[in-house]
Amino acid sequence: MGRLLLMCPDCQIPMQLVLTPKFGWRYLCPTQGCDIRHSCHQRSKEPMGKPADRLTRRARASAHEVFDKIWNNGSRKKRGKARKAAYTWLADELGLSERDCHIGKFNYDTCMQVCKLAMHMNFDKLRELGFV
Ligand SMILES: [Zn+2]
Repeated sequence: MGRLLLMCPDCQIPMQLVLTPKFGWRYLCPTQGCDIRHSCHQRSKEPMGKPADRLTRRARASAHEVFDKIWNNGSRKKRGKARKAAYTWLADELGLSERDCHIGKFNYDTCMQVCKLAMHMNFDKLRELGFV
């Protein structure tokens, strides 16, 4: 059994499997200044999904920014409920199960879709639609 070859999506070179003190086994890009990190199963060292390239990571950050505005206000207690409602709504819009509805899993196109959808959504609308 050889090591799995995982390429850094930005540098196009193989990433290195490193035992880190904080996160255990991880794939790190050996290029200096490259911040690509990727988690793996601790026992099999199999990578968790595919590492995202710069564009995808940026798209995910934008999607989070727009989407989180829907639920991230009000009291802490309300926030948890609002967050859940927002994700239920998003999963519904994207035709995904709630289990698969994580922005961290989305590709570039889906992130752009999230931005478009979330821009026109807010907490009051969620409530009107019966998600809260
Ligand atoms: Zn890299």
